[in-house]
Amino acid sequence: MKQRDSAQGTPSKALKAPPLRGESLPLAARLWRSHIRAMWPQLIMVLVVTAIAAGTTGLYPLIINHAYDAFTARDSVRIAYLPVAVALVTIVKSVALYGQVALTNRVATRIETELQIELYDHLVAADVARLSRETPAALTQRFTTDLGFIREALTRATSSLVRDVLTLISVFAAMLWLDWQLSLMSLVIVPFAVIPIQRIGKRVRRVTTTTQEQMGMMAGLVSESFGAARVVKSYRLEDYLRTRANTVFEVIRKLKIKTADQRGRVEPVLEALGGLAVALVLAVIGWRIGSGASSVGEFTGFVSALLLAAQPLRGIGSLNTILQQGFSALDRVFSVIDEKATVVDSPDAAPLAVSSGAIRFEDVRFRYPDGTLALDGFDLSIAGGKTTAIVGRSGAGKSTLFGLLPRLYDIEAGRILIDGQDIRSVTLASLRQAIGVVTQEAVLFDDTVRGNIALGRPGADDAAIRAAAEAAAADRFIARLPEGYDTQVGDRGARLSGGERQRVTIARAFLKDAPILLLDEATSALDSESEHLVKEAIDRLSQGRTTLVIAHRLSTIRAADCIVVLDQGRVAESGTHDELIARGGLYARLHRLQFQAGRDDDGRDEDGRDTNPESEIAPA
Ligand code: ADP
Repeated sequence: MKQRDSAQGTPSKALKAPPLRGESLPLAARLWRSHIRAMWPQLIMVLVVTAIAAGTTGLYPLIINHAYDAFTARDSVRIAYLPVAVALVTIVKSVALYGQVALTNRVATRIETELQIELYDHLVAADVARLSRETPAALTQRFTTDLGFIREALTRATSSLVRDVLTLISVFAAMLWLDWQLSLMSLVIVPFAVIPIQRIGKRVRRVTTTTQEQMGMMAGLVSESFGAARVVKSYRLEDYLRTRANTVFEVIRKLKIKTADQRGRVEPVLEALGGLAVALVLAVIGWRIGSGASSVGEFTGFVSALLLAAQPLRGIGSLNTILQQGFSALDRVFSVIDEKATVVDSPDAAPLAVSSGAIRFEDVRFRYPDGTLALDGFDLSIAGGKTTAIVGRSGAGKSTLFGLLPRLYDIEAGRILIDGQDIRSVTLASLRQAIGVVTQEAVLFDDTVRGNIALGRPGADDAAIRAAAEAAAADRFIARLPEGYDTQVGDRGARLSGGERQRVTIARAFLKDAPILLLDEATSALDSESEHLVKEAIDRLSQGRTTLVIAHRLSTIRAADCIVVLDQGRVAESGTHDELIARGGLYARLHRLQFQAGRDDDGRDEDGRDTNPESEIAPA
């Protein structure tokens, strides 16, 4: 099936930030309900160790105050206890810190994996129209960077939010205990910190969403460039690719600088405000000591508590930007999960019952998601159990028909019937079960030969798999493979030749044993022996099934029971080869053209090689 890159936007639009979509609070609430709440025992553990880590921090100012008193009183017993107390507090704190990091990571990683599973489950079942809206690489990117942002936000939320807030509370409790008036005074600073941090957070979130979208584009571009390495080299497209990629890289660079600039503002703001707080407290202390109201000693603990508070405060401030990045990613992930598939079973769908396998298109109108009107007022009847060849210039609508039959897309108007049943009134599972597909590009997965054939009927036993391979003339070459049926075929079947890959997919179709067969004849060059074997296997496979074949070679067409000639989304003419030649219409013209191109009857040169990679029945 053809794919269009409607997924890629233009980089120039990218620098404009989109409006914020989901609000943070509902997003957080949803994550809590769907993934976090169930982990409450682990969360309590995290809270306990975090509380211990934070609580011990609050002990430091008390110990310092205590030490000051002990030193001034020259109390040797208390002085002797001090190092022990400090050591104990430190040990407890270290153990708690480790426990906190380890537990937090477990919780965050678990949630990340759960989201990955949910996202994958959703996407793997999504409509073709949805999947072709984004490049595979851009979709992959949601699993990596988006979920990475979410994990980082979760980890930081538990470590910073819980730890820093608890630390602050414990430090503030110590401050209150030491001097409540001064403590309340230092709170004046808080509102001055909250407002800028919120504004910065919002901006970071917007830029992050845009950045992620651009990163998706970049991923698509990069994988496209390297996936087509052979073409790139032979056409010397390096400069073209470089220019295209550099534009996107540059956009991403600018977006990253924007984010970093915003994130970078948080700490200085907090630093300045913290400094102001210390200055304020010092001024008051100075005034009190000057007026003889207090002594120096009382303030040592207080000032050290204030300084201790600076770090968790900064943590909370910078946490917000990370949280906002997480929310942006969460929003992107949830928005995919929430998409509803449009090609679904109707409420009263019944299983398809195939008798002869006759197919009818009645006044069908179909538009691709990008608006291209591919079929309009399309009528066609296909006899059950026969082979019908579909020919026509490229763009005539041949592949579109193949996409509509298994409902990869739904039509806009009209009906498609199989043995009198509207394909939208039957269950998708039974419809797709009834249709076998052999495509030009033999699609293999990086599994064993056996595994690839078995995809035709999961759970098939070994004897059935071997019988299918035999019927597809694949058993001989499989026996010659180093590990026979257990040989791994490599990425997309890279270890097999084109003809071998074809025969594995034909074996798969044999195993599936569907009453309707869609064949997209391979246009790429197979050696003559392979070609012969593939042809014979396909002939066997078509026996007794309704077979639709997109034909590129005259030999296939001659043998077909009926030939349907498509032109611009309509049936131009149909009949047998001889009838159509006698008629002298489009088919006769296409036929003549192919002969004029200096072909033998097969459209091949003496070596049996296909000389024209686009050897359609007619050059467009
Ligand atoms: P054929 O298989 O005969 O070459 P297609 O069925 O692929 O022709 O195309 C029929 C029409 O639909 C053409 O105008 C083509 O540009 C358009 N088309 C095909 N695939 C898509 C797609 N995924 N998105 C948008 N338009 C498409």
